[in-house]
Amino acid sequence: MRIVDLSAPIDAGQPEADQISHTILSPAEGARHMSEQVRARLGLRLDPADLPDGEFLSLDTLTLTTHTGTHVDAPAHYGSTASYGVPETIDQLPLDWFYRPAVVLDISKAEGHIASADHLRDELDRVGYTPRPLDIVLLYTGAQEWAGTERYFTDFIGLDGAGVHLLLDLGVRVIGTDAFSLDAPFGDIIERYTASREPAVLWPAHVIGRDRKYCQIERLTNLDSLPPYGFRLACFPVKITGAGAGWARAVALLEES
Ligand SMILES: [Zn+2]
Repeated sequence: MRIVDLSAPIDAGQPEADQISHTILSPAEGARHMSEQVRARLGLRLDPADLPDGEFLSLDTLTLTTHTGTHVDAPAHYGSTASYGVPETIDQLPLDWFYRPAVVLDISKAEGHIASADHLRDELDRVGYTPRPLDIVLLYTGAQEWAGTERYFTDFIGLDGAGVHLLLDLGVRVIGTDAFSLDAPFGDIIERYTASREPAVLWPAHVIGRDRKYCQIERLTNLDSLPPYGFRLACFPVKITGAGAGWARAVALLEES
């Protein structure tokens, strides 16, 4: 079996929509910290130099949103209520949704930063695969090329409302994208809304989640290295109590032929 990493890093050195803070306590600093703890809590003495190599253990402290790096959006992210009941937070979703056969659809040629249901139909015809219930659909938009730059957050292709409904009608419950969002960039959405005053154009790929239960994996990478189908995706989200999203190490599992 071959494992293909589909995850983008959480990297405080890269531009982010919401900047990450990552503080590292080094092993040497960890030794001094432990020495202080021993004195303060136990009233005993442990010289940092007594520890092997004068080092204890490192510790990373991060401040970041759950939408940093590759992550899974939960229904609770889409709104506080849903027509079908209380929308689940990330810790409440069935794990069974996140280890499934997957299909990659290329929507990178869509114009106007948005792909339609017709794009998806054409792509499903081209690859010759019909998703079965609970299959994971991965959308290759090409945005992964701009990962690590400011452009990644403004220049990408989203999916329109009809496209989301088409996948949900097939029984899909997890939709992945290599872009910052499953919706079109915010500037495009506001332009469309200004022209039409039609609320349905406002972030449909997320707001539809107030009527229909599904998750999206955002900020994937390496989707262009996968075959269109014939593999499984594993993308278990980190179990954060009450959170609207969780980071995931998304990988494709390919049987070697
Ligand atoms: Zn998200």
